[in-house]
Amino acid sequence: MDDTEAAPSSDPLDLHGLLFDTSPDLIAVLDSQFVFRIVNPAYARRHGRTPGEIVGSTVAQLVGEDVFRETIFPRLERCFSGESSTYESWFTYPTLGPRYMEVRYYPLRNDEQVSYAVAVIRDFTDQKASEDALKESKEHYRIVADFTYDWEHWLGADGTYIYVSPSCERLTGYRAAEFTDDPELLEKIAHPDDREMVSRHLKEEHSVTGEARSLDFRIISRDGEERWIGHVCQPVYDRDGHWLGWRGSNRDFTAQRRVEQGLRESEEKFRRVFEDCPIGMVIAPPGKHFLQANPAFCKMLGYTEQELKRMTVRDITHPDDWSESRDFLRRLARGDISSYVIIDKRYIRKNGEVFWGRLTVTMLGGHSDEQIRGLAMLEDMTEQRKNEQLREQYVSFISHDLRAPLSVVIGQASILRSRLSSQRAKPEAARTESILNSAWRMNSMIQDLQESSRLESGKWTMHREPADLGQLLSSVCDQVVSPEQKVRLRMEQPSGPTSIEVDHERFGRALANLVTNALKYSPSDSPVTITLDRVGQEVLIAVADQGAGIPLDEQPLVFDRFYRAVHRKKAEGIGLGLYITRLIVEAHGGRIWVESKEGEGSTFAIALPITTH
Ligand code: ADP
Repeated sequence: MDDTEAAPSSDPLDLHGLLFDTSPDLIAVLDSQFVFRIVNPAYARRHGRTPGEIVGSTVAQLVGEDVFRETIFPRLERCFSGESSTYESWFTYPTLGPRYMEVRYYPLRNDEQVSYAVAVIRDFTDQKASEDALKESKEHYRIVADFTYDWEHWLGADGTYIYVSPSCERLTGYRAAEFTDDPELLEKIAHPDDREMVSRHLKEEHSVTGEARSLDFRIISRDGEERWIGHVCQPVYDRDGHWLGWRGSNRDFTAQRRVEQGLRESEEKFRRVFEDCPIGMVIAPPGKHFLQANPAFCKMLGYTEQELKRMTVRDITHPDDWSESRDFLRRLARGDISSYVIIDKRYIRKNGEVFWGRLTVTMLGGHSDEQIRGLAMLEDMTEQRKNEQLREQYVSFISHDLRAPLSVVIGQASILRSRLSSQRAKPEAARTESILNSAWRMNSMIQDLQESSRLESGKWTMHREPADLGQLLSSVCDQVVSPEQKVRLRMEQPSGPTSIEVDHERFGRALANLVTNALKYSPSDSPVTITLDRVGQEVLIAVADQGAGIPLDEQPLVFDRFYRAVHRKKAEGIGLGLYITRLIVEAHGGRIWVESKEGEGSTFAIALPITTH
């Protein structure tokens, strides 16, 4: 080995010299004092010097003390102890800046001793960059694959899994490794009813041919739950067109399936209800042609569904009820009323007969005004109407027939009483008095029967007139309360007049019922308080007594027809007073209710809207 600085070889056959001079690798020979003895042109060039400028200087002088001590010295030392070594590291060069270099050290022995170290240094920066890029892109793909929400797999051409995404565990409860270890696992966990279909699909999947294919099937997950899987697979090929198996995507659509199933079931239920229900049902946009009618509706009106589809509600409505129906349809179309509206009305059947129906309408909203339609439900009220008419007739006949002999009894008993009184026959006069009292009671019961029947039929006219409620109450009390009882009444009212428009006779009757009941159903020495008040747009009238009260479960019933409390049967009355009172209050657009506590007393209250007509 030449001890002096290197010079380009002049002999073209000096192959070693040629390689040394033209090598792109950086080559240097160092002695044990870490002094450069030979460097090739590439080495010198990299440091921005000529070989002659480097030879003779130490490594530390060339690369700096720090780099020498930390990176180079420990390895060179090993080299001088006879060990070859390779390492990679970043070095900064004056010409190119930081470069990633692979450094190899070879010991050169002279006899037994290592006298020189040869350094062959190769620039790895570009490889390092592409290696890093590869690593990074692999990492990207790994992240994309491993973090897919759906369960993705790549089934190799030999039928074993090359890749299964970890998300399979979320869907199936089984880990990716369990699928790769057992290629039949998918078939095994398929729902027994779907297993054959899945096996067939997978078998076909193993053949090369085919486009993307899909299959919906159920699996039983590890925790025993049934899950719906939407599976799509397609063949995969490398760049050269070699078939590499199938890529499959599996999506859990159990939730959608349940919603769909629920929807289908509820549609089916609705269809069955629609078809089989004894209530007539028809669907139509307000006032337009019918779209659908169920068999019950067709039967009620005697038309077929086809015939009804060419008709509107006007064609089947009784002419006398049309104007009310038209108003109702307009309010529906305007959206003033929406659901569960009930009206009783008459229809004309195909054969011309009158059909009484109770109509309930529910609006079925759509996305646009055109889609809004009403579901009308019709109950056959013909029989009920007939019964009501019969009952009305019956009540009016009975009342009439009873009142005629009763007025004879009252007339004759009155004559008898005055005769007996003038003859001073006291006991007989008293008996006649009790006959008269009973006859009057009977008369008022018959009146109640007639009145309730009239109010129910709606065949009465309301005569509203302005009234001062305080005055109306006083005159009612004067008429129906005896002077002995009157001392029990307390009146509380605002200082000014409380005026309102009511039907004097009927509303007076309602008030009289509350006052007489309060007196009747409380101890004869207890007070009855009547309160008048004005709250917002309403007038409140309350009649409070200190009687036995009404049990909570009976309270909602006291306003029903013929309701009489079991334990008070002995008191006079037939249980129509509060029923009539409620009908009158409701006809005035008001509300009536009771608040009562057993043993403490009851308060009956009326709220009437203040209206001016
Ligand atoms: P009746 O003719 O029986 O009085 P009502 O319709 O006026 O009929 O009253 C119905 C029932 O309500 C009565 O039988 C009675 O049991 C109960 N009731 C009405 N008012 C009162 C009251 N102020 N206190 C307790 N119970 C009452």
